[in-house]
Amino acid sequence: MGKCPNCGNKGVFLKTVNCKTCGKEGCEKCFIYLLSIYASIWDKEGYGVREWEKWYACSDQCLETFARKLQDQISLKDVSIHTSEDQIKELCLERGVESSANKEWISSGLAEKIANLGRKHKDEYLVFSFGNLDSPDEANPLNQRLMEHASELLKSAWLAEAENLEKARRFEEAARIYEKYAMYEEAGRARAEREEILVKRTEVSVDLNNLLQQLKDGGIVATYRCPHCGGELKVDKDTNVESLKHCEHCGSEIEAMDLADFLRTALS
Ligand SMILES: [Zn+2]
Ligand SMILES: [Zn+2]
Ligand SMILES: [Zn+2]
Repeated sequence: MGKCPNCGNKGVFLKTVNCKTCGKEGCEKCFIYLLSIYASIWDKEGYGVREWEKWYACSDQCLETFARKLQDQISLKDVSIHTSEDQIKELCLERGVESSANKEWISSGLAEKIANLGRKHKDEYLVFSFGNLDSPDEANPLNQRLMEHASELLKSAWLAEAENLEKARRFEEAARIYEKYAMYEEAGRARAEREEILVKRTEVSVDLNNLLQQLKDGGIVATYRCPHCGGELKVDKDTNVESLKHCEHCGSEIEAMDLADFLRTALS
């Protein structure tokens, strides 16, 4: 007969467990369940899912400490966040061999087991699950914490994407991402930038026509070097704005503003 040293719970098959944070001994009944580590592996029974470890905390405080450690050491690279229509459906901590290393909350014994995953068979992998593998426990306090953390990770990934889209001048797409996170001012700013560029483009093309006319009037022949291929583009009385949109040698787009600057210099 086993007896829990923490709550006194007795049972023939009673198995005691240790708190993941402080190491205190208790049982499944009196401790808070954190998560399970499953591995899909090949062993003498063939290929299958085996439960490797089940983690518990003795108190809310120890859960909190553990959750914080986990959060600090989980990045987007470690987590596959399954989403549908921008909503997080599932936070999957599927860990490969590399990302399990250097995590404080993974014991050296477990790290070794993880490191051996996939050595003999490529299809071996590890899954961290909150509760049953097939039906993860959404009410699990640790799961909730990590889901919130995952939303934050996802948000920062989307915002970084929006920044890149702005750099690529895809302002409307960036604005839509800002809107999704209720960042209306940012969305407005991105859209305003788009309008500004449209206006600038029109101004520049009017400008370009003027500049070409001046070039013709002055009988000037200028040679513009394509910034992409270095090819020479002759600008003379027969050149029109349309033919200067793309490089005749490499086909890349020619930035109208750069061209206008060049013509202004040629005329001065
Ligand atoms: Zn504890
Ligand atoms: Zn107990
Ligand atoms: Zn070119």
